Amino acid sequence: MDALLDGLNDAQRSAVTSPASVLQVLAPPGSGKTKTLTARVAYLVNHERLQPWNIIVCTFTIKAAREMKERICGFVGEGTEKKLILGTFHSVARRFLVRYGQQIGIPKNFGIADTTDSKSIIKRIIDTRQYLVPPDQARSRISGLKARNVSAAQFAATQKKADEHEFANVYSEYEEQLKSQNLLDYDDLLVRCVELLQKVPECVSSIQAVLIDEYQDTNNVQYELMKLLAQARGRITIVGDPDQSIYSFRAAEIKNLLRMRKDYPDSSVINLEMNYRSSGCILTTAMAVIEQDESRPEKALIATHCVGEQPTLRHLANAQVEAWWLVDEIQRTTTLTAGLLGYNDYAILIRSAALSLSIERSLAKAGIPYRMVGGLRFFDRAEIKLVLDYLRIINQPESNDVLMRIINRPSRKIGESTIKALVKEAEQEKTSLWTLILAIAQGRRKSRSKIAKPAQLGIETFVNLILTSQKKLRQEDSCDLLGLIDHVSIKISLEAYLKNTYKEDWKERWANYEELVSQATQMATSVADGEEVADDALPVVEGIEQRQDTAADILSKFLANVTLSSAVEQPNGEEVSQVTISTIHAAKGLEWPVVFLPAVYNGSIPHSRAEDHDEERRLLYVGMTRAKGLLYLSCPVKLASSEDTVLSKFVDDPSIQKFFSRSGPSIGSSAIRDLAQILGRACPLASEVQSAQSLVERIEDDKYPFTRDEIDGTESWSNFANPRNAPSEPWAKRTKIQHS
Ligand code: ATP
Ligand code: MG
Repeated sequence: MDALLDGLNDAQRSAVTSPASVLQVLAPPGSGKTKTLTARVAYLVNHERLQPWNIIVCTFTIKAAREMKERICGFVGEGTEKKLILGTFHSVARRFLVRYGQQIGIPKNFGIADTTDSKSIIKRIIDTRQYLVPPDQARSRISGLKARNVSAAQFAATQKKADEHEFANVYSEYEEQLKSQNLLDYDDLLVRCVELLQKVPECVSSIQAVLIDEYQDTNNVQYELMKLLAQARGRITIVGDPDQSIYSFRAAEIKNLLRMRKDYPDSSVINLEMNYRSSGCILTTAMAVIEQDESRPEKALIATHCVGEQPTLRHLANAQVEAWWLVDEIQRTTTLTAGLLGYNDYAILIRSAALSLSIERSLAKAGIPYRMVGGLRFFDRAEIKLVLDYLRIINQPESNDVLMRIINRPSRKIGESTIKALVKEAEQEKTSLWTLILAIAQGRRKSRSKIAKPAQLGIETFVNLILTSQKKLRQEDSCDLLGLIDHVSIKISLEAYLKNTYKEDWKERWANYEELVSQATQMATSVADGEEVADDALPVVEGIEQRQDTAADILSKFLANVTLSSAVEQPNGEEVSQVTISTIHAAKGLEWPVVFLPAVYNGSIPHSRAEDHDEERRLLYVGMTRAKGLLYLSCPVKLASSEDTVLSKFVDDPSIQKFFSRSGPSIGSSAIRDLAQILGRACPLASEVQSAQSLVERIEDDKYPFTRDEIDGTESWSNFANPRNAPSEPWAKRTKIQHS
C-alpha cells in the first residue's frame, strides 16, 4: 500500500489495518508491538482520515512517548504528530482537566503537586497536628484511598478508632490545602479525570481512537479511564505481553486483560510471533527461562535473525571484579568489532539501584561515559550525600555550605530563620559558621541568648557529634573509616531517619548506605582515576622513616576519591556515546545491541524482599529480551559481607545452563558478520577486524592484569587496589593506538 505497511509482516499489517472496534495485540517481546501501534496511529490518520486530535495514545513513560512521536512523524505530515493526544496516562488526563476541568469545579490554571510536594504538604500538616505517623506512610495511605475514590469524609464514616479519625483529619486537611493552593496531585489527575468523563461524557464525544502500549501494566483507575476515553465512539487498540507484567507493586492488574475480554466480548485478538529484535540464541535462552513458569500458556516465538553468539553466564570473584570484568568486556568488544559497536550500544541493567556503585566506579575509572536512567548516580543520592556531608564536616568543618545542609538534618529543631541569622552573624564577623556555632555551644557567645532554647540544644548536639567524631579520628592509629561511618550513622539515627523520611523506599536507601559502608575501606585506599597515588606505589627509601597514614589521612583520601570518581565528566550532549545504566524496570520496551545483567544471584533476583517469584522471573525475562546481539549474565561468588552467593534459581538448572557459554563470546569474524546482520549495520572490513584482533591479542598477552584464578575468585582480590595492577591501563593504551 505504501511505505507505512512495507516494513511490516502479515500479522502486523492486519493489526495495523484492522477494522475491529476493540483490538488486542498480545505478543512476546521484540515482536513489533510498539512498532505496530505506531503504524496504526499513522494509518488512522493517513488512510482512515481521522483527525490527529481525535486520537489518544497512552504510553508508559515520557521517554516512550517522545520516541513514539518521532516514529509517527516519519509517516504523517510534519507537525501532525504534535496534534495527537499522546503521552502517559497522567499527561493525557491533565490535558482533559485543563480543557474541561471547570465543569467539575477545577479551575483552569491548576498546578500539579508531585510526590515531593505532596509529602511536604502532608509533613507540615502532621507537624502542626502533632500526629505521630511518618509523612510518607500517610501519603501512600491517602494515595491508596484516592485511587479507590474514597474521600476523607467517607473514610471517617467507616472508622471507629480515634487514631483513624485523626488520620481522616490529616487527609481532609491535605485535600483542603491542595484546593486552596489550586493543586492536583498525581492521583487526582487520574481520579478527577474519571469523574469528569463520567459526569460530562461530551468531553470525549470527538474521540475516535484510543491506543495503549504496555497494557499489561495498567492499573484499575487507568483501565476505567481507558474505557471512558473511548465511551463515545472510540475504537480501542491495546498492545501488551502478560509475560512482561512487572508492576504489580504499583497496583497494575494483570487481570485487566481478562476484564477487557469480558467488557468487550467481541474484541479481536491478534498474536504476533516473529521476533525482530534478538539473535536466535538469546531468544531460545530467554524463552527457556520464562517457560519455567508452568502456569503460563505456551506461546510461539520465531527468530528472524541468525543464531548469533551464545549468551554468557559468568561467575566472578566478587562485585568489584564483576564490575571490572564488565568494563573490560565493553572495551574488548568495542575494540574487536572495529567500529561496529559504540558505547551507546551497551546497557547494564540492574535489579536494584544499590548495585550501581561498583559499576559506576569501574566505568569512571576506565574513562567510559555513562548515563543513569530512572535513578540518580550513586553519589548523588540523598542518603549517600547526607553521610558524605557529615564526613566532610568532620574532615573540614569550615565548609559553610555543607554545614548549612546538615545542621538540621535530621531535625534538631534549628529553624530556617535561625540558620539564616547564624550565617549572617558569621559573615559580619568574618568567621566561619563552624567557629560561631562552636562558640555558641560552648557558651562563649552572648548571641546565644537570642536563640530559642530547643535550637540551642540542637546546636549543642550537632557540635558534640562533630567534636566526638574528630576526637575518635585522632585517637585511632589505624584506618577505621568503617567505625567512623558507623558512629555517625548511629548518632544521627540514620536508619530511623530514612524510615521516617522515605517510607516507600527507605529499605532501598538503607541498602545504598550499606553498599557505601561495604566499599568504604577499599575506596579509601584505591587510586581514583590515576589522579592520586597510593602511598605503597612510592619506592621505599632506606633510612627514611615512612610516614604512616593516620585515620584522618585515610578519611581525607576517601573523600578525595569520592569527589574524583563522581566528578568524571558526564557530557549531556546527544552526540557523546554513553553506556546506559538502568534498572530493569525502567528498561521496559527498550532495546540495545549488548546487554549485561550483573548480580544474578538469589536475593538479588529473585529479590530477597519479593513475594511473587513469578514476577521476578518475568523481570529477568524482560531484562534478557532487551538484548539484540550479545547478552551477559554474571554473578559474584562472594558478597562484600564475604557471604557466599547462590546463582539465581531462574538460571541454576542444567536445562537452562546448557544455553549459556561460560567463557564469553570470542568475537571472531563470523560473529561480527552476524552482529552486523542483526543490527542492520555495515560489516567492518576484514582488514580492520584483523588488525583489531591482533591488537587485542598483543595486549592480552603482555598486559592482562589478572590471572584467571584471581578473576574467578580462586585467589584473593587484594591486589585490585594496587596501582601497578590498575586494570584500565592496557585499555587506555589500546584506545590510544586506535585513535592514532
Ligand atoms: P517489547 O515487548 O519489548 O516492548 P515490542 O513488541 O514492542 O517489544 P518493538 O520495540 O516494536 O517490539 O520492535 C522490536 C524491534 O523489532 C524494533 O527494533 C523494531 O524496529 C523491529 N521490528 C519490528 N517489526 C519489524 C518488521 N516487521 N521488520 C523489521 N523489523 C521489525
Ligand atoms: Mg514495546
